[in-house]
Amino acid sequence: MFTELTQIESPWSELQAQVDGQVFTPEDAGYDEARLAWNRKVVQYPAVIVVAESAQDVATAVTFARQHNLGIAVQGTGHGNIRPADDCLLILTQEMNSVTIDPIAQTATVAAGVKWGAVLSAAQEHGLAPLLGSSPTVGVVGYTLGGGLGWLGRKYGLSADNVLAFELVTADGQLRVASATENSNLFWGLRGGGGSLGIVTALTIQLFPVTQVYAGNLYYPAKMAREVFHHYRAWITNAPDELTSSVLVMNYPPFPELPDFLRGQSFAIVRGCFAGDIAAGEALLRHWRDWQPPVLDDFKTIPFSQAAIISNDPVDPMPGFNSGAWLRELSDAAIESIIAYGLGTDGPSPLIFAEVRHAGGAIRRVDPATAVYGNRDAELVLSLVAVAPTPEAHHHLVAYTGQLKEALRPSLTGGVYMNFLEGVESQQRIRDGLVPGGYNQLSRLKSQTDPENLFRYSFNVSG
Ligand SMILES: Cc1cc2nc3c(=O)[nH]c(=O)nc-3n(C[C@H](O)[C@H](O)[C@H](O)COP(=O)(O)OP(=O)(O)OC[C@H]3O[C@@H](n4cnc5c(N)ncnc54)[C@H](O)[C@@H]3O)c2cc1C
Repeated sequence: MFTELTQIESPWSELQAQVDGQVFTPEDAGYDEARLAWNRKVVQYPAVIVVAESAQDVATAVTFARQHNLGIAVQGTGHGNIRPADDCLLILTQEMNSVTIDPIAQTATVAAGVKWGAVLSAAQEHGLAPLLGSSPTVGVVGYTLGGGLGWLGRKYGLSADNVLAFELVTADGQLRVASATENSNLFWGLRGGGGSLGIVTALTIQLFPVTQVYAGNLYYPAKMAREVFHHYRAWITNAPDELTSSVLVMNYPPFPELPDFLRGQSFAIVRGCFAGDIAAGEALLRHWRDWQPPVLDDFKTIPFSQAAIISNDPVDPMPGFNSGAWLRELSDAAIESIIAYGLGTDGPSPLIFAEVRHAGGAIRRVDPATAVYGNRDAELVLSLVAVAPTPEAHHHLVAYTGQLKEALRPSLTGGVYMNFLEGVESQQRIRDGLVPGGYNQLSRLKSQTDPENLFRYSFNVSG
């Protein structure tokens, strides 16, 4: 494909003349930096990179790619890792970063390259909150297209369920709106179906009146992990929707920048966010405080603008590894497996953490027919995260997490949450992330709107 292109007289300069943003080819000085993803494990060599500055740039790039028989990948931040953008046209959206808040309608309209932190701070100025996840450096669009499960999830639902409209460029190069009333089939498929139907250039999302929450972490010694998980299981039974929480085993690396008591240590941690009356949040914490004193208890009232401190996710780029699955239950056996693999079966665990997040609530109450996003009735999602600096480390993690999921099999629903998968696993498991019949319906929609499968670097829904 690339050979074919080089025989044409400088198609890249033709492309550069048509777009406002920069165009990089492998010969250009900025190419190596432009092809980096936040997840440094992603090594990709696009045929050409377009740093789009507008929806028009995106439309031009899509049309160019189609005319030149190039697949199209898109990257907002590079936190996701589905398929490396090799030999294709990669659209970078980071320069498309406008955020407009409508305080009356309580909505935000955000451009394709916006990270959650920018929406959070703009919305908080009006006493409003978006449905971001654990990290404000994650991109709004990639996160939302996969569902979007954050600390307000049980109260207000998924980010995908709170999109009012997408603006996107479809494979024919046309800019369209997808909403409940316009191109509603695309709207259905974009909410959970990833970027397989087009390049989103902007979206309008609902905001919610949240200014402060009762949130934080309780750290217990790793040797108490079993009791902590059992106590957590009891805590979330009948938990109010205002509480979105998780339980995890965490292995802090021996990094010098970490405080002494964390460096190289392992913990069982309970974390959560109560988005309701603060006194009611405090009362819920008695379940823990009256039980066993944690090593560290930093649950307190915080402005929601500081929501990032709940998970304290890494900000700097790193070679991340992710896997996960929906759990039917936290059975005694499931707890044993998560703790054993989370803390290490035979020597130290290669995982940074094994976390079980509590979903359900408002996520479950949405009519499953309204979006392709699946597994709404599952309430517990396992997220396995590690650092994979080398291909060997990655392969070891694939095998290790595979063993854990095998051990957990009786407690797995068979479903996956696409945002917590990556690479080959996310390519293979898409059917299990969608509503029953969703894959076939989405692939029919895909063959009507993108018959050449230009957007094949997103969730694989073709065929
Ligand atoms: C530190 C960290 C914390 C996280 N926390 C959470 C969490 O709390 N909850 C949760 O649900 N997920 C979470 N995730 C997962 C995250 O939502 C996904 O990795 C998501 O895909 C990242 O989106 P992005 O736009 O930042 O990344 P990108 O890598 O830029 O995008 C990921 C994919 O989204 C699609 N995409 C991006 N932009 C567009 C566009 N404009 N048009 C069409 N398709 C597009 C593409 O297929 C792209 O490959 C977390 C990930 C990390 C690394």
